[in-house]
Amino acid sequence: MPIQRSGRYSIFAIARQAMGQHQGWTRAWASPEPRDRYKVVIVGAGGHGLATAYYLGKNFGITDVAVIEKGWLGGGNTGRNTTIIRSNYLQDPSAAIYDKALKLYENLSQDLNYNVMFSPRGLIMLAQTEHEVRGYKRTVYANTLQGVATEWIEPERVKQLVPIINIEGPRYPVLGGLYQARGGTARHDAVAWGYARACSDMGMHVIQNCEVTGIETANGQVQAVNTARGRIACDKLALVVAGHSSQLAEMAGFRLPIESVPLQAIVSEPIKPCMDVVVMANTVHGYMSQSDKGEMVIGGGTDSYNAFTQRGSWHHIEETVRALIETFPMISRLKMLRQWGGIVDMTGDRSPILSATPVGGIFVNCGWGTGGFKAIPGSGWAMAELVANGRPGPLAAAFGLNRFREGRFVDESVAAGVAH
Ligand SMILES: Cc1cc2nc3c(=O)[nH]c(=O)nc-3n(C[C@H](O)[C@H](O)[C@H](O)COP(=O)(O)OP(=O)(O)OC[C@H]3O[C@@H](n4cnc5c(N)ncnc54)[C@H](O)[C@@H]3O)c2cc1C
Repeated sequence: MPIQRSGRYSIFAIARQAMGQHQGWTRAWASPEPRDRYKVVIVGAGGHGLATAYYLGKNFGITDVAVIEKGWLGGGNTGRNTTIIRSNYLQDPSAAIYDKALKLYENLSQDLNYNVMFSPRGLIMLAQTEHEVRGYKRTVYANTLQGVATEWIEPERVKQLVPIINIEGPRYPVLGGLYQARGGTARHDAVAWGYARACSDMGMHVIQNCEVTGIETANGQVQAVNTARGRIACDKLALVVAGHSSQLAEMAGFRLPIESVPLQAIVSEPIKPCMDVVVMANTVHGYMSQSDKGEMVIGGGTDSYNAFTQRGSWHHIEETVRALIETFPMISRLKMLRQWGGIVDMTGDRSPILSATPVGGIFVNCGWGTGGFKAIPGSGWAMAELVANGRPGPLAAAFGLNRFREGRFVDESVAAGVAH
């Protein structure tokens, strides 16, 4: 089948299409029938799966690739998250991969020729206890050594950057903040769509509505996946399915140290621009940014038990809203429009897994938990390197599965407070 290309998007393309009543646009990505064999099959068309495919093509020239998705692309956590992007992590391997991702985000719209609406508006993580003050100052020192620009800011500067904040706080006054000026947000589904379009333009197959129901192996080597649309053979298989990672691993006959829990978000009615920074209040636990449409985008906490309902429990909504009302009293008069959840894949050290597995030819990319949207380009870059070469490059080396056996954790649970 010839490759269907979407054409280059530009102001000239818009003008040209306007002459023809916009009837001439081709589809952004093709919807091909699956073939019975590919060199690489990637399960999961979220941001990480699609970015893996994109960098396999771009960096390694491997385009005999299918990305297989049980629902619609970006319909998992990639289209459900609160889009916070930052790279102010404590440990060196984390700072390296998250900052690689941030650098790629800075140029992603140009690279993909698709507007992902990256908005480096700045991000503050509030310190509201002495413990947090010490923790965030330590992170600033670590980031300085890693070459990641972050700074400690005093409460007055927090108030200057976020006039709607209550720095007195009824329970926890704001004692300062960890500020990353390069942090911000991007449009989550545009990230998935942009990568999907670029993959499709390279001749890769992005196949939606195609659940993987089984994995065939022989002599310790992957052979094929069984899907709702038939058997698909492959030389290499990448499992990039976030909250469903343990289920896919079980199909292949191994176990992963992953717990799957719901994480929730809420969005308010749109209001006039009132906050042009992302604020995370980790002690009271809630975080907020304003979308381009004017909605306040609010993130909450994870349920404390494993579940696969993309909903989450009610008490988190109450706790999150309570936390944010004390931090931003003006939002008490806002109506909330929508609430939803996603199934996040948590590891014990709150760091991801990019790794070969006990089955030859199968690789996993998971464990991004509550904070993997920001990592998508860096993760895809590192995962492509792992799949193409069969061994991790410098960005993925610390995130192998063997770290759990050998006790070499990359502990981000304390550093990040919450890891969004
Ligand atoms: C409410 C919420 C808020 C968040 N906020 C942030 C944030 O502010 N910043 C941040 O950096 N991160 C955040 N995250 C985390 C972030 O969304 C995830 O880490 C990231 O999107 C994971 O991307 P992914 O591509 O690995 O997974 P997903 O986007 O979930 O993609 C996996 C795909 O695999 C598919 N799949 C599963 N099983 C099968 C199967 N058997 N066959 C075929 N396909 C299958 C799913 O349908 C899904 O589309 C948040 C998450 C949630 C839920």
